[in-house]
Amino acid sequence: MRDGSNWDVIIIGGGPAGFFAAIRCAELNPKLSVLILEKASQTLGKVLISGGGRCNVTHACFDAAQLVNFYPRGGNELRGAFARFQPADTVKWFEERGVKLKAEADNRMFPVTDSSETIAGCLREAAKNTGVRVLTGANVLGVEKNSQGRFNLKVGNESRDLHLQTKKLLIATGGGAKSREIIKSLGHSIVEPAPSLFTFNVKDKRIDGLAGVAVDDVTLKMDALAQRGAMLITHWGLSGPVVLRLSAWGARALFEKNYRATLRVNWLGDSSIEKTLEVLTRNKEWKENARKKVAINPAFSQIPLRLWKQLTDFAGDKNWADLSKADLRKLAEELSAGEFAIQGKGQFKDEFVTCGGVNLREVDFKTMQSRTIENLFFAGEVLDIDGITGGFNFQSAWTTGWLAGSAMAR
Ligand SMILES: Cc1cc2nc3c(=O)[nH]c(=O)nc-3n(C[C@H](O)[C@H](O)[C@H](O)COP(=O)(O)OP(=O)(O)OC[C@H]3O[C@@H](n4cnc5c(N)ncnc54)[C@H](O)[C@@H]3O)c2cc1C
Repeated sequence: MRDGSNWDVIIIGGGPAGFFAAIRCAELNPKLSVLILEKASQTLGKVLISGGGRCNVTHACFDAAQLVNFYPRGGNELRGAFARFQPADTVKWFEERGVKLKAEADNRMFPVTDSSETIAGCLREAAKNTGVRVLTGANVLGVEKNSQGRFNLKVGNESRDLHLQTKKLLIATGGGAKSREIIKSLGHSIVEPAPSLFTFNVKDKRIDGLAGVAVDDVTLKMDALAQRGAMLITHWGLSGPVVLRLSAWGARALFEKNYRATLRVNWLGDSSIEKTLEVLTRNKEWKENARKKVAINPAFSQIPLRLWKQLTDFAGDKNWADLSKADLRKLAEELSAGEFAIQGKGQFKDEFVTCGGVNLREVDFKTMQSRTIENLFFAGEVLDIDGITGGFNFQSAWTTGWLAGSAMAR
C-alpha cells in the first residue's frame, strides 16, 4: 500500500459488518475505490470461531416487528433498518452467492455445511469479486478530519506507519477499547461497555449438588424484568436460555450493581402463589396422599424429584397431611416466587457479547451516518446494540453494514 494514498471509502474493521458494507458499496458503485483495514493478520476472526465453528448466521424470524424484541439494546432503532434488510434478505444474499442456510428447530440459521469457513470464504470471495481491497495487519491508530472535509488516517502496518486519506469513513471495529478512543476523539459519545449474555453465580443450598438438573418452563424476575423459558442448574449457579436472556436485558443494571441482585424464581412457569397454594391444598386434602412424605411425592410433575426434595427441605419428614396452612403458603411461595441471591456472573461459552458502544442517538439509522460528522458511518457491534444469543448479533451486523454500504455508495 502506498503511503499517502487517497480512497473514496475506507472501512476500519474486517469483521462481518465491515465486509458487508464494503461489498454492498462496491457492488452499487463499482467506480469507487473501497479499502478495508484490519488490524489482525486475518479478517473475519469472530465469524470463524462463531457458533462453535458453525456460525449462527441469523435467525429464522422474518417479521421486523417481532425481530426487534430480541435486542435488549438497539431494538427501537433497528425497527426501520430491518424493514430494509432483515433475515430473509440475509438468507437470499448468501444464497445468491452460492451459500445455502438452514434453520434448526429453535430457528437458529447455519450454513448447510455447518462450517463457519463457508461464510468467511463467501464474504472474502464477494469482496474480491467486487474489487474491494483488504489490508491486514493494519491497525488504525488515529483519525482526523482535515480542512477539506476528508479523513486522515494513521495506520500502523508491519514496522511502519502509513498515512491514508478517504472521503467516506466507516468505523466497524466491534467492541475494542482503542477504537472507542478514536471515536471519542472525533467528538462522539460512547455508552461504556458491559458484558451481556452471562450465567448467574448463585450459591444456595436449595440447588447445591444439582448440577445438570434442568427445568423446562421457569419464569425469572429481577426488579421490573421478567423472562420465561428453560433453566439449567450448574456447579456455579444458574444457566440456560432463560438466564442468558435475563442477563442480556439486565446487563446494564447488573453491571452497575456489581452483579449482586435478588432473583425471583417461579419453578412452575406462570403459576401464581395463590394458584400454586390451591393445588397444594388440594394435594394435602387428597386422601391417598395424606400419609405420604412430602419430600418424595411431588405435587408438580414438571419439577425433577431431586430439586423438589431440596425445595421442600423445610418440611423435613412431614407427610402431606401434617402440613399446616403456614407450611403450605411457605411452599407455594418457594415454588412460585423463590428468592435467590445472584452473587456474581459466569461466562457463557458459545457467544461472548458486550453491550455499550456508539450512542445510538448520534447515528441516523437510515444511512448509519453520524448525525454530527458528515461522511462518517458506523456499523456492527461498535454501536450500542446487542441481541440475545441465536444469530441476532450477526443479523444486526449484516443490516447496519448493508445500510452503511448503500449510503456510502451514493
Ligand atoms: C466466541 C463467539 C461466538 C459468537 N457466535 C455468534 C453467533 O454464532 N451468532 C451471532 O449472531 N453472533 C455471534 N457472536 C457475536 C458476533 O461475533 C459479533 O456480534 C460480530 O462479530 C460483530 O461484528 P462486527 O463486524 O461489528 O465486529 P467484529 O467481528 O468484532 O469485527 C471488527 C474487526 O475490527 C478489527 N479492528 C478493531 N479495531 C481496529 C483498528 N483500530 N484498526 C483496524 N482494525 C480494527 C477487529 O480486529 C475485528 O476484526 C459471537 C461472538 C463470539 C466472541
